[in-house]
Amino acid sequence: MKYAILGDIHSNLEALTAVLAKAREEGVEKYICTGDIVGYNANPRECLETIRDLQPEVIVRGNHDDYAASDLDLAGFNPQAASVVNWTRNHLTREERQWLSRLPLDRTLDARTTIVHATLDMPGRWGYIFDKLSAAASFTYQFTPVCFFGHTHIPGIFDKFGSVRENGFQEVTFEPGHKYMINVGSVGQPRDGDPRAAFIVFDPDEKRIVLHRVEYDIATAQKKILKVGLPERCAHRLAIGR
Ligand code: ZN
Repeated sequence: MKYAILGDIHSNLEALTAVLAKAREEGVEKYICTGDIVGYNANPRECLETIRDLQPEVIVRGNHDDYAASDLDLAGFNPQAASVVNWTRNHLTREERQWLSRLPLDRTLDARTTIVHATLDMPGRWGYIFDKLSAAASFTYQFTPVCFFGHTHIPGIFDKFGSVRENGFQEVTFEPGHKYMINVGSVGQPRDGDPRAAFIVFDPDEKRIVLHRVEYDIATAQKKILKVGLPERCAHRLAIGR
């Protein structure tokens, strides 16, 4: 039984469609979503509907899901970020926003696996895990050998008792007695300099994960962003993966 683990989709339907095609090709039967279905790109409803149709085993709430679902005042946001949140709020139904608001911040799949968007120590504070030091606090609250997360849009592996790969990896087999935090990268807005969509295939029986990078129709995603009047920067960054 293989799982696709995907997150930071950020309303990018072209990237999501390409990732799901690849997942099916890889024989994936189950799905886990590490959050941030919406934000930045132009297809929040379509992405939400696609994810819900997959009936994932676990979906956790990301910060952009949270902003879009709530009526939180955006005074502390930079104007571009606020404009994206407002646009997304206006393009979701009340039911969709309510559904997002009810997603858990973290969830344990089974005795081996935990899922969170940002960090395990204070998941609603939306801190970032970029390095071994920032991973340390989360490890304190991780009671399973494996935790999948996202938020930085940079795939990587942090092993409490072993090596750390802060920027990318290809394939890893879990060692007994180790403790892993695995960043699954971003489907809809990669920021590691590789513009291809990222997601992970997880085989729990083999205790193995593979990071996949998938080409998608970036030009169409960019055109949609500009057409609906979202910030130009959201379109430009897709081409460079930053
Ligand atoms: Zn994100």
